Amino acid sequence: MIFTANRKMQHLGEERSAIREIFEYGNKRKAEIGEDKVFDFSLGNPSVPSPACVTTCIENILKNADGSFVHSYTSANGSLECRKAIAGYITSNFNFPAAPENIFLTCGAAASLSITASALFESDGEVIVFAPYFPEYKVFIEFAGMKVKTVFCRNSDFGIDGENLKNAINEHTVAIILNSPNNPTGKVLSEKEIVEISDILREKEAELKRNIYIIADEPYRELVYSDVFVPYIPSYYDNTVVCYSFSKSMSLPGERIGYIFVPDTLFNKNEVYSAVCGAARALGYVCAPSLFQKVITECIGNFSDMSAYKENLSLLTTALKDSGFSFYNPEGAFYIFLKSPDNDAAAFCETAKKYELLLVPGDSFGYPGYARISYCVKRETVLNSLPAFKKLAQEYKDRGKI
Ligand code: PLP
Repeated sequence: MIFTANRKMQHLGEERSAIREIFEYGNKRKAEIGEDKVFDFSLGNPSVPSPACVTTCIENILKNADGSFVHSYTSANGSLECRKAIAGYITSNFNFPAAPENIFLTCGAAASLSITASALFESDGEVIVFAPYFPEYKVFIEFAGMKVKTVFCRNSDFGIDGENLKNAINEHTVAIILNSPNNPTGKVLSEKEIVEISDILREKEAELKRNIYIIADEPYRELVYSDVFVPYIPSYYDNTVVCYSFSKSMSLPGERIGYIFVPDTLFNKNEVYSAVCGAARALGYVCAPSLFQKVITECIGNFSDMSAYKENLSLLTTALKDSGFSFYNPEGAFYIFLKSPDNDAAAFCETAKKYELLLVPGDSFGYPGYARISYCVKRETVLNSLPAFKKLAQEYKDRGKI
């Protein structure tokens, strides 16, 4: 038989993401019954416009340029101007030293994570992820040639249990991935929790005589709804690599722009930065979109108006509580992780579809028994969906499950 394709890649392509499947179903359903009758809470696709600076900046670039070099290549690691702007932002906002030589521009957090996993690759290496987790972590880690080790978060508050973390670390542990504010729970790790995790890692580094990295996946850093403090992890743990994205904070997910920050505090900063450049080269991720590097250079520090998400959150949590649903009270990101009244969350999400509510089963995030509501949608969608949530709850009350 003639070999036609890489079977592993074929499988990944055919398996598709459950989240995108639901999103596609929603589009089909909207075409059938009308946009306003389908309540699509599946994808983390920001509905709030980008900050005004983005449009102004693009208009100015296009108006003032003579046509040459507008869309040209930049250096593989990003333009010096953009790296300077990002480094300056990190230094002044997080009071943490950063220079252009610490920054690598990427096509969003997905590319940042995939590059970082390949850059830190070690044969027999393991990366610890905390369930529930962003499903693509598994794809990036395994593609980089390492194993995923799952540690379940505490059920009560989705915090990280220190003993469970200690037990998961061994001589193969290369890194742990922290994602705060979190997708899918909305949990923000407190300073106390970051200090505890950092202490455990340092203890284990000393015991095992090897270095363990934190990969801080931070696309939701600015998305918090009260004065909750989001600790800057490199300030607590030296061997931290930050994977950042402007997708959510500036509503630019389709433009594919983010960065990797490799601080000087890493025990092997120069090697890791070179490995990041090499991994990006090997993966074909050189030169992030140049127009958006210019936008970030001008607009860094400008964020989308998050107040709409805060209002969505308030409307939904009030209605869900009144209906008898239970969930973790999110502090950030734009997701609610709802306890499924049915043990089988996939069955619950299927039932929700009857009321045109599109939710994602927690199984997709490695955490059965829950369903994710992504509420970065238009206010009308939230308002129109409330009677549907009420009916869904009533069905489970009738079944004696709420
Ligand atoms: N990490 C987490 C936790 C996410 O939720 C997402 C996207 O939803 C990403 C990474 C990927 O972000 P980007 O669109 O910038 O690649």
